[in-house]
Amino acid sequence: MTETTQASVGERALAAFPGGIANGEYGLPHDLVLAMERAEGCRLWDTDGNEFLDMSMGWGSVLVGHARPEVVAAVTAQAPKGLNYAFLNPPALAVAEEIRRVAPAAERLRFCASGTEATMYCQRLARGFRGKEKILKFEGAYHGANETGVTSLFPSKNLNFPEPELTSAGTPAAVRQLLVAPYNDIAAARSIISEYADELAAVIVEPLQRCTAPMPGFLEGLREACTESGVLLIFDEVVTGFRLAYGGAQEFYGVIPDLVAYGKALGGGAPIGAFGGKAEIMEMVAEDRLGGEDYVWQASTLGGNPFSCAAAEAALSVYRQPGTYEHLFGLGDYLRDGMRRVLADTGTTAQIIGAGPLAQVVFSPDPVFDYRSTKKGDGARGRALMLALFRNRVFLNPMGTKLYLSLAHDEAAVDELLERFGAALGDAG
Ligand code: PMP
Repeated sequence: MTETTQASVGERALAAFPGGIANGEYGLPHDLVLAMERAEGCRLWDTDGNEFLDMSMGWGSVLVGHARPEVVAAVTAQAPKGLNYAFLNPPALAVAEEIRRVAPAAERLRFCASGTEATMYCQRLARGFRGKEKILKFEGAYHGANETGVTSLFPSKNLNFPEPELTSAGTPAAVRQLLVAPYNDIAAARSIISEYADELAAVIVEPLQRCTAPMPGFLEGLREACTESGVLLIFDEVVTGFRLAYGGAQEFYGVIPDLVAYGKALGGGAPIGAFGGKAEIMEMVAEDRLGGEDYVWQASTLGGNPFSCAAAEAALSVYRQPGTYEHLFGLGDYLRDGMRRVLADTGTTAQIIGAGPLAQVVFSPDPVFDYRSTKKGDGARGRALMLALFRNRVFLNPMGTKLYLSLAHDEAAVDELLERFGAALGDAG
């Protein structure tokens, strides 16, 4: 029989996976490597039966809450009918129609299996449509594990903009293909966009970058600068989609991009990616163009599979229930206010940032508005805090430092977190 005690799981995981982690990130000390066996609501249980309060929620993919009955019912009904046909099916059609209904940018859509692919396809389409190679991203933004996502993600050299800094080995082309601007600095972005207009295919932005909100006018300014310079605007809505509003950042901030990428919350926890855009851009992936210069390759074995799309259809129906966004935003305020109160009570200087159901602590005395101002904070202390919370049975990603609430969290769960937050601040002091 295979042993599943925590120690043996940790040892087996360290033998099987680099860093003992199956899917990447976390960067856990080896004594904290464990496996989760079960989840319900906002709780997870490891293979030893220890209960964790989940503040990661599948890196935000399980916004509906773990084992949400509507999603369980949908995937249970679909499973006996087959998990993948690699072809159009009713749930895929229903989900695409619903996205089109609420996201003005998505006149046409296609499915893929992850957010990484969705942002990659948006960039490829932009390059194909505009016939230009460069993409501009904002320093510190993550767009998935593709080249753009991992370049200037955790830079340390403070290079002059728009020079990119590689965060990952094995991505040399990114130096040639990318330009980097400081988030929330519309003047800097505007001047790079107009200077490089001849080479620049698109600007890609997380409308809410990690947990840092856009300053008034920033997204509107980007929209304007892109339009003026013939550059496409891509919204990476992998996090913001269905989370900041049912219509995502487009609805929440009132700015409409040319292309948009989705993932995470769309699938209710099931693997999914989707991307959409103006019809004339999206039509480039239509296969009758193959062989022509106006054709962009796109294909995904798992894209639009009926299992994930059944989960997505159910997740969307949950988001449409009355009170969803009031709950997420009310609880987000409750969490951030509570964290600020704990900081004050413990005499700790830090910034609490985030919007809607997202929060992050940055140990800096100064306001945070972009990557460099965030990096001025005490990162080592941030990590120590995350690890102290993890040891105190709050499940989160210590490399990410972002906390995700879900529809399954309530004030009692947040109170529990705040208590452990206070204790962890002492431990991580
Ligand atoms: N874009 C953003 C803004 C993300 O936060 C992430 C994942 N954390 C991705 C893209 C990539 O999504 P995935 O991990 O599904 O490939």
